[in-house]
Amino acid sequence: MTYNFSSGPAMMPIEVMQGAHREFLDYAGSGMSVMELNHRSVLFNEIVEEAKTDLKDLLKIPDNYRILFLQGGASLQFAAVPMNLMRHRKAGFIMTGHWTKRAFEEAQMYGEAVKLASSEDRNYTYIPDCNNLSITDDLDYVHICENNTIYGTRFIELPDTMGKDVVSDMSSCILSEPIDVSKYGLIFAGAQKNMGPAGATIVIVREDLVRDDVMPGTPSVMKYKNQLESNSRFNTPPCYSIYMCGKVFKWIKKIGGLSAMKELNQKKAKMIYEYLDESRMFHGTVDREFRSMANATFTTGNINSDMEFVEESKKAGFVGLKGHRFVGGLRASLYNAIPVEHVEALVKYMKEYESVRMRGAI
Ligand SMILES: *Cc1c(COP(=O)(O)O)cnc(C)c1O
Repeated sequence: MTYNFSSGPAMMPIEVMQGAHREFLDYAGSGMSVMELNHRSVLFNEIVEEAKTDLKDLLKIPDNYRILFLQGGASLQFAAVPMNLMRHRKAGFIMTGHWTKRAFEEAQMYGEAVKLASSEDRNYTYIPDCNNLSITDDLDYVHICENNTIYGTRFIELPDTMGKDVVSDMSSCILSEPIDVSKYGLIFAGAQKNMGPAGATIVIVREDLVRDDVMPGTPSVMKYKNQLESNSRFNTPPCYSIYMCGKVFKWIKKIGGLSAMKELNQKKAKMIYEYLDESRMFHGTVDREFRSMANATFTTGNINSDMEFVEESKKAGFVGLKGHRFVGGLRASLYNAIPVEHVEALVKYMKEYESVRMRGAI
């Protein structure tokens, strides 16, 4: 038995994998795999349309928003967003970790990137106060990373951007709970954490932000307007990843949608954090109120003991528990596809591990 707690690419729902397995060689009686379908065929078009409809249902996306399935990962959006949206060449950033730093640095290539708040002073272990940001009139948007995959923090409310559009990197939290899409100008997320296999990147954007007057030099494939007009097929899209995302959307709907998903995710997070709070061996690494529901970061406080735990737990079937190389320590990613029972098994294993080691220490 393998318990996969990897931060991404991550575990996929078993039912989705079984469904894809059944259809692998013959999709819908076509005698072809989805991998072999032309991206402009009727069958593939249906896959895209259904995925869009299901995503729209799940997130209750208002009619004035558009869904794009793109390539290049969240990282390409760090460039695409400024190219399409930075009309005054100025955007604000809330610095909450590695991914906002990357987005900030990328945006600097295209215009002025302004740091509005930061939690760098305490190594990104909290979300900075975003109530009195110095928002100037000429800001085109404010960029946030809603769930910080590496550090294990998350925004518990959106920053007050004084009317400026919020651009949110939701790569590791999209579809983990209901959100109010109308509060955002643009949402983007790579598929490989909570939606499907790596390849597709989803952009949900308010229609008035999809414009013709993008920054000169914007590659045609990166211009949202081109992708919108061609229904995400300006060029060949990541077909198989989109197909798998579509299956995941249906799986979430079957479970009961995003409220049901949230309940399960809260349950998993509670299990691990409750244990971390009572443990004498492991402790959480970020401020409690900002703890991520998706990525629980923790440590024994000692690099060697952390590494030992990674090695030992691997023998018992637990993989992906090593923290990101930038922060060290340990991390369990609890994305939608991770069953409650897997988290139960992890906590049980950690308890036993602790009890054996602590006895040894006395
Ligand atoms: C994983 C991740 C990224 C990077 O995604 P790529 O698809 O590898 O570009 C960016 N932001 C967040 C929040 C992530 O979790």
